[in-house]
Amino acid sequence: MTADLHCHTTASDGTLAPAQLVRLAKDLGLKALGITDHDTVNGIEEAVDAGERLGIEIIPGLELNTDFEGVEVHILGYYPDLEAPALQEVLARMRDARRSRVRAMLEKLNGLGLAVREERVLEIAGQGSVGRPHVAQALREQGYVKDIMDAFARYIGPGRPAYVSRYKLTPEQGVGLIGAAGGIAVLAHPGSVARDEIIPRLLQTGLKGIEVFHTSHSKDMERKYSEMARTLGLVMTGGSDFHGPGRKDGIQVGDRTVPLTVVQELKQLKEQM
Ligand SMILES: [Zn+2]
Ligand SMILES: [Zn+2]
Repeated sequence: MTADLHCHTTASDGTLAPAQLVRLAKDLGLKALGITDHDTVNGIEEAVDAGERLGIEIIPGLELNTDFEGVEVHILGYYPDLEAPALQEVLARMRDARRSRVRAMLEKLNGLGLAVREERVLEIAGQGSVGRPHVAQALREQGYVKDIMDAFARYIGPGRPAYVSRYKLTPEQGVGLIGAAGGIAVLAHPGSVARDEIIPRLLQTGLKGIEVFHTSHSKDMERKYSEMARTLGLVMTGGSDFHGPGRKDGIQVGDRTVPLTVVQELKQLKEQM
């Protein structure tokens, strides 16, 4: 009777459509599944429909990418009001920013004599949110680089000639935004971020939980963060961070789970919002 509260679909950078992911989770015996795409809630409707059809509970969510002094900090939000204007506005701004960032990178690449077309990059991104991996793939297709890593190392990684920085929220803004949209803000995989000093600051802006169980966390990290969550009175969430089958990380949906009681806790917190 378990729930995987952290998964991605084609709405962001996952490779399974929401309905396919829900089907897989159901086949693997999960009772509940959190849909937490990066900076978008566009996959949720399809997932909820599929969940109702197949008999598996869908927990609507998202994962905001924020920046703390150059380090990426991810904030999960559960049960946000999908129509909340504050949320819609920021997500739209992030989407526009991704587009204009890609355009700026392509201009720089063209200036370097590398002809990559924006239409092709958008095509590669498909329904997902467009970003540097898609630019890298276009560069590879054109034979300008060996592979994605090469593209980042030579052209589009930080400090390289076609690098363009992205529009960034601070972690505090991310937590505040989720709260303003009626959602439950949870700090994602803090073990892989290693910036615990932000936790007290996030508590002040409404942090409600810590993702204690995650495929990047060691047993020691699980112990450390569950103790921290208990001390601070925060809900302990967990999930696999599955992005699709056949990836190098070898992660499968359900590789980290939490009991269904955690879903109940999230719902209780939602009622108090
Ligand atoms: Zn993350
Ligand atoms: Zn994730």
